[in-house]
Amino acid sequence: MAVPKRRTSTTRKNKRRTHYKLLIPGMVKCDNCGEYKLNHRVCPHCGSYKGKEVVEK
Ligand SMILES: [Zn+2]
Repeated sequence: MAVPKRRTSTTRKNKRRTHYKLLIPGMVKCDNCGEYKLNHRVCPHCGSYKGKEVVEK
């Protein structure tokens, strides 16, 4: 089995991981307030869903 000759430095490791996604899948912008929220969930910021259905805070 191949073994790495040198260990990967923290910098190199972190540079490689810059392409890792910032947002988890299913994160969308809220139609009402523009904040990120989970898809198919009521917005935790403004309590709206599909534009209008408002939940009291
Ligand atoms: Zn919202």
